[in-house]
Amino acid sequence: MFFCHCKGNLPEKGNIMGASKAAKKTKKCEHCGKNMNVRYSICPHCGGQQHETGGSLTPECPRCKVGLELLVTDDGEEYDICPQCNGVWLDRDEFRRATMERTVYRKVKTGDEYIKNPVRGPVEYIPCVRCGKLMNRRNFGKISGVIIDRCSKHGVWLDAGELEKIQHFIADGGLDRSRDREIAKNRAAIKELAINVDQNTFTVRLLHFWNFKRLLFRGWR
Ligand SMILES: [Zn+2]
Ligand SMILES: [Zn+2]
Ligand SMILES: [Zn+2]
Repeated sequence: MFFCHCKGNLPEKGNIMGASKAAKKTKKCEHCGKNMNVRYSICPHCGGQQHETGGSLTPECPRCKVGLELLVTDDGEEYDICPQCNGVWLDRDEFRRATMERTVYRKVKTGDEYIKNPVRGPVEYIPCVRCGKLMNRRNFGKISGVIIDRCSKHGVWLDAGELEKIQHFIADGGLDRSRDREIAKNRAAIKELAINVDQNTFTVRLLHFWNFKRLLFRGWR
């Protein structure tokens, strides 16, 4: 999407983090006064929430730079979806709800209507829909193989089909496997600590705690 250069008298020079080649409309942050993209609801400089977002300005897709549309799921959740690539933005709480095990187990298979071809290409860091800072890429659940783009403060961007992949991973017991791995890792760490600090009784108790789950489900090994 291109904006007309002759409108508005704000300088377009500022190199906003994660800025695309397309010209951006900027405004001054309500809190710190620095220039920011009008579409961001949170200032990338000071983190201040913007109250005057211009009403009609929706957040834009970090890949296609088109306005996101509202998608209401069967569960009544509202996600921001890109009409072009069908990626979705989920605010932190929305993502938490969408990936809660009881949500996922209860769910019958999600419709395919918004699964399109996944966006593939060179690894690219994309800006957060809310604050414009480049997001981190992480492997959901550490072992799922689904790489999500995440702003630790505001939420996650999921390319088309990724939410379904994550939900299948969870429904498949993936989080459990991931946790088992954490438990095993912690156990090794605690053992190491025991050697170093020599607090045997204390440590033995801790080990029992970490073994509890295995004890319950698989018997003592
Ligand atoms: Zn600010
Ligand atoms: Zn898009
Ligand atoms: Zn953010």
